[in-house]
Amino acid sequence: MYTEEEIKKAARDIVSAEKIVALTGAGISTESGIPDFRGTDGIWTKFDPDDFTYSKFIKNPANYWKMSLELGKLLLSVEPKPNPAHLALAKLEKLGKLRCIITQNVDGLHQLAGNTDVIEFHGNLRRVVCIVCGERFPYDLAIRKASDGELPPRCEKCNGILKPDAVLFEEPIPKYALDRSLEEARNCDLMIVIGTSAVVYPAAELPRIAKERDGYRMSLFGLYPADRVMTHKKGAKVIEINAEPTPLTGVVSDYLIEGKAGEILPKILREVERLLGL
Ligand code: NAD
Ligand code: ZN
Repeated sequence: MYTEEEIKKAARDIVSAEKIVALTGAGISTESGIPDFRGTDGIWTKFDPDDFTYSKFIKNPANYWKMSLELGKLLLSVEPKPNPAHLALAKLEKLGKLRCIITQNVDGLHQLAGNTDVIEFHGNLRRVVCIVCGERFPYDLAIRKASDGELPPRCEKCNGILKPDAVLFEEPIPKYALDRSLEEARNCDLMIVIGTSAVVYPAAELPRIAKERDGYRMSLFGLYPADRVMTHKKGAKVIEINAEPTPLTGVVSDYLIEGKAGEILPKILREVERLLGL
């Protein structure tokens, strides 16, 4: 469990940093009523992750949509609202203390909370995309079609098959999101990692990239030419806020503040405001 001293330390780190980036995962939205994947009541206790691969989708989109409707009910049924953790991040942005959020979440809650620069690393489940023409539509439209028996639901423009606009296993990260996330991770001086088990790659690589110092490269991104990785930087500070330790803890992150994001972030925010004299 976290201590008040850790809250104060994080607030001091935020006040003294200049380029702050947050990396968020499903754990920041559990307090909005959306289950995470790998926590105790996580989605993978009810569904099999192997069913949500791109090849399974292509092989049998109708069947995929049937499962997806069930999963969608879990993820998006209660009209979820941003919780105090999302709202605290929105306020940090307003204070000029958060450049952007890189989120693995597909629930759109950071945008609803008011953050204006949200990089959706794994897409957004509130949209669907036509796999033929690339046109995007609201998820509700696909749900209506699927509920009316149109399985798989099809594009209004070209009749192509619609796919949830979230990144499935085996699918690449959207290029724009990957490029910008890498750039933000390389350039930040503080990364706050919130509610992620840090086992899904390449997202879990981002804190390691933030931490990189000159001449130090992580193996998974060995494909990147050295001149793009050697950035003459000192290496960012990495703070974790999570309900439990992760593979980053004690290895990549400078410290873990252990507990609920919806409690911890508002406390940090209040302390930041106090230090800034607000
Ligand atoms: P994860 O489920 O693997 O891990 C969540 C982590 O958050 C766990 O370590 C858990 O202990 C912690 N946690 C749970 N509640 C917390 C709280 N209140 N405060 C602080 N920590 C808390 O999630 P992940 O690392 O984001 O990876 C899962 C993948 O699943 C992501 O790629 C994402 O796309 C997807 N996903 C998204 C949503 C969503 O959009 N809300 C929900 C489930 C899964
Ligand atoms: Zn189309």
